[in-house]
Amino acid sequence: MITIEQAIQNIIDIKNMYTWSTGADEALDMAVYALREKAKSEEKAKRRRMMKPEEAIQAVKEVAGMSLPWNDRHYEALQMALSALEKQIPKKSCSTSSLFRYNCPSCGNHFPLNGKYCDKCGQAIDWE
Ligand SMILES: [Zn+2]
Repeated sequence: MITIEQAIQNIIDIKNMYTWSTGADEALDMAVYALREKAKSEEKAKRRRMMKPEEAIQAVKEVAGMSLPWNDRHYEALQMALSALEKQIPKKSCSTSSLFRYNCPSCGNHFPLNGKYCDKCGQAIDWE
């Protein structure tokens, strides 16, 4: 069986292979759209099965604490991974004086209400 990504690519290839009638062309676009939506929901289901960012941070710290022949690049990668994982833990946004504009708790970037992630630094935002 092929993956969803391959199916999407194949449909796009089919679409480009021939000058389709408007109906067929639109149907192929819809097929690509439906496959992308399917891929998205599978990605979400996979994420739900994965560990929480807090657990991953703990596990990565344990990995870094092993006495292995680490070099600077390994440490740099682990550091980067840790700070990326920390941003996966949602933080509350601080509202600013201007209505409907909010501050990122990590970098202070302004963004509109209900953004799930800061578009500047990737911090996950908790709107609860
Ligand atoms: Zn930010």
